[in-house]
Amino acid sequence: MNKHILIVGGGYVGLYTALRLQRKFRRELRDGSVRVTIIDPNSYMTYQPFLPEAAAGNLSPRHMVAPLRRVLPKARILNGLVTKVDHNERTVTFQPPEGAPREIAYDVIVMAAGSISRTLPIPGLTDIGIGFKTVGEAIALRNRVLHLLDVAESSEDPEVRRRALTFVVVGAGFAGVEALAELEDMAKHSTRYYRNIKAADIRWVLVEATARVLPEVGPEMGKWTLEQLRERGIEVKLETRLESCVDGHVVLSDGTEFDAETLVWTAGVKPSPIVAGGGLPIDERGRIRTTTKLTVEGVRDAFAAGDAAGVPDVTTPGEYCAPNAQHAVRQAKVLADNVVRSLRGQELVEYRHKYVGSVAGLGLHQGVANVYGVKLRGFPAWFMHRTYHLSRVPTLNRKVRVVVDWTLALFFKRETISLGEMEHPRDGFRAAVATMRR
Ligand SMILES: Cc1cc2nc3c(=O)[nH]c(=O)nc-3n(C[C@H](O)[C@H](O)[C@H](O)COP(=O)(O)OP(=O)(O)OC[C@H]3O[C@@H](n4cnc5c(N)ncnc54)[C@H](O)[C@@H]3O)c2cc1C
Repeated sequence: MNKHILIVGGGYVGLYTALRLQRKFRRELRDGSVRVTIIDPNSYMTYQPFLPEAAAGNLSPRHMVAPLRRVLPKARILNGLVTKVDHNERTVTFQPPEGAPREIAYDVIVMAAGSISRTLPIPGLTDIGIGFKTVGEAIALRNRVLHLLDVAESSEDPEVRRRALTFVVVGAGFAGVEALAELEDMAKHSTRYYRNIKAADIRWVLVEATARVLPEVGPEMGKWTLEQLRERGIEVKLETRLESCVDGHVVLSDGTEFDAETLVWTAGVKPSPIVAGGGLPIDERGRIRTTTKLTVEGVRDAFAAGDAAGVPDVTTPGEYCAPNAQHAVRQAKVLADNVVRSLRGQELVEYRHKYVGSVAGLGLHQGVANVYGVKLRGFPAWFMHRTYHLSRVPTLNRKVRVVVDWTLALFFKRETISLGEMEHPRDGFRAAVATMRR
């Protein structure tokens, strides 16, 4: 056997698939009869459920990512984008960060490219909107919220203050609700260091097109979450759509209009663009048509899983597995086993997992959970959220770092510093050069 397994995407599915292949093909990887390559623009896997905690400053951003090269020493990691898959020729086009694209041949492909924010053609959205799927976005948002508190504190113009202190989140799934709840909690806590800002001066608006929030925890706990958010003074607008946000002037479908400096878009995800340009069959929602055995429908030597794949849910016939980590991590295990089985000429197995519910953090010591029918709220749910995600974050090294971050936060006050200038590191130097010219 001399096989090259190429994994497109080093997120949940990519990392866990490669980890298992590394274990199952230990001997083959050593003697070179099997090679595994992962291609991803980043050199790390992002543990996305920790993005809200990183935005709130409870976790260091470096501790919620797993470095691919360290975790997967037996695999080759290439940083860049796969821009085309030619499965007939068994090649992908790889675009590295520098230089010309090149073709890479493979024998087996694993499509694990995940998803991107699903946006709509709303006027102004591309100018002021920000997503919440990457470490960069989470940390930029944290810096932005804290910076805008500084702006409001330093201004006497009520219009400037009002605009700076108005934050809008569109989409009330777990990404939107957790991001909003954590950032609101952090901003409220931070007001104690400002003389001129009270917690009530900060306006948080959650806009949701349907009639419910946090569907992942079921109707009862979703209703409780809605009440909690409203009790905290957050304006939750259900059955409402964002109509436009040109120059930060927000117009909602219920007729409400106001100005806001910040608009976070978390209204759903769609498969990574490589899926559409991938030369593999796609379904009506733009996902890779995938079988219950995690192979690509009607195609040999191609596997898919996670947010980019339309995997039939065998526990609920007619439905597909939802795009979440719970499925992604379990699918990766079955997918890797099936890659091994297919190369050894064995029968493939079916992916079967019944969704067990979800946990969500709503700020420090606050949470909501509905797992295996056990419904929790407040502190017990928050504790469960933390212990569950701690058990899930990849590698012992990261687990220890996360615990250290949380332990430090127990003894010291929250960090409330905006390091927004890190996004423009050359500004100071450019200003110095400009003074020399003068
Ligand atoms: C804020 C937030 C909170 C969440 N919380 C939860 C939770 O509590 N519980 C839960 O179950 N789920 C949660 N999720 C969802 C979960 O994180 C995703 O379902 C999961 O990450 C999907 O795994 P994946 O491997 O399909 O995609 P990802 O983990 O997103 O990985 C895809 C990878 O592919 C790479 N890639 C994309 N395009 C290309 C290309 N063309 N070439 C090469 N590489 C490419 C990307 O860079 C990325 O690294 C949350 C998501 C977010 C954003």
